Amino acid sequence: MEYGSYRFTRAEVNLDHMEYNVDQIKKQLNPETKFMAVVKADAYGHGAVEIGRKLEAIGTDYLAVAVLDEGLELREAGITIPILMFGPIEESTIATAIANEITMTVFTEETAYLIQKKAEELRKTAYIHLKVDSGMSRIGVRSFEEALNVMNALKSDFVKWDGIFTHFADAENLENPAFTKLQFDTFIKIVAELESENIFFNLKHCCNTAATLAFPEYHLDMIRTGISLYGYHPDPKMQSYVDLKPVMTLKTHASYIKNISAGDTVGYGRTFKAAKSTKIATIPLGYADGIPRQLSNQWALFINGHKAPVAGRICMDQIMLDVTEIESLTEEDELIFFGDPAKGYPSLYKMADITNGFHYELLCGIGKRIPRIYFSAGSVTATQNTLLD
Ligand SMILES: *Cc1c(COP(=O)(O)O)cnc(C)c1O
Repeated sequence: MEYGSYRFTRAEVNLDHMEYNVDQIKKQLNPETKFMAVVKADAYGHGAVEIGRKLEAIGTDYLAVAVLDEGLELREAGITIPILMFGPIEESTIATAIANEITMTVFTEETAYLIQKKAEELRKTAYIHLKVDSGMSRIGVRSFEEALNVMNALKSDFVKWDGIFTHFADAENLENPAFTKLQFDTFIKIVAELESENIFFNLKHCCNTAATLAFPEYHLDMIRTGISLYGYHPDPKMQSYVDLKPVMTLKTHASYIKNISAGDTVGYGRTFKAAKSTKIATIPLGYADGIPRQLSNQWALFINGHKAPVAGRICMDQIMLDVTEIESLTEEDELIFFGDPAKGYPSLYKMADITNGFHYELLCGIGKRIPRIYFSAGSVTATQNTLLD
């Protein structure tokens, strides 16, 4: 086997594809528009450190994470470009965020005051972005008055007002852009009112991937793209907006191949019954690795142009396949769970469809137990686990 010392089941991450995707998005921007790459949730399951390093190397203005630990992981890996933390900062961790130059999202007066106080105490600059809730009803100030109160609590030479942002709730709704327009107008109005009070921000931003593609007039100073980096559109309906290449390919192999007889059943609950003599391959991954159990009897892996359908229920750590049609199959052959449909590999969009799920969620859910192997112009780096199958 190619990676004898690693678990053969692996998620291959093609960093050249990611670079291609970044270039494709950048082509849609004005040259002055900054590029924030969203690497929260371990870079949507791809591995934040490797992805972050590559993004830094190819010239990314800003990274974004959801929680402080994710930002610290990137700092510990030696990444020095700005990192915005999207989620609210916990009071007890403000000093750590300041010390590690993690830009904080602020939207309450209480937190603003604590940040200002801590920055002065440490005599170190705290970087903040003010979050405006223009219609998502998640986090953010909901009016100019609230915004002004927060900013007044952040008046200090040790607080840098680096940005102001909002987040769209419905930017992938191509039929009806009215709500996105309303959110944009609400946001811009609050920005203008703050400016009239002499409160200015370095970066105004509002576009996630969907808005970046569908509303070029809303790019402002920076766009924030997540899903496109990894080769997927926010919604399969947006595929015509930009060409993207899936970055992750989930691969496994048969750990055991055998024949069963007509009438034999496969797996828990005996949901697959062989109508004739059937060749069954067992593969060493399961729902503990993030494979949705709804794929039981519903999915097929790809092998050299053939399909290997799932037989019976997905188990925690193993899955059985009906490989009767694939005469030459051996334990050495690669079986593709999902990947680039351009190569004939099963599509993540289809997996989302079948499981009534969401491609973002499927990517984030690919378990830590699966090693990520990184490819870039001929080089291969394996990181994370070194479990054997
Ligand atoms: C996750 C997130 C994004 C990125 O969303 P994509 O759809 O993956 O581009 C952008 N902005 C905020 C605030 C987010 O939470």
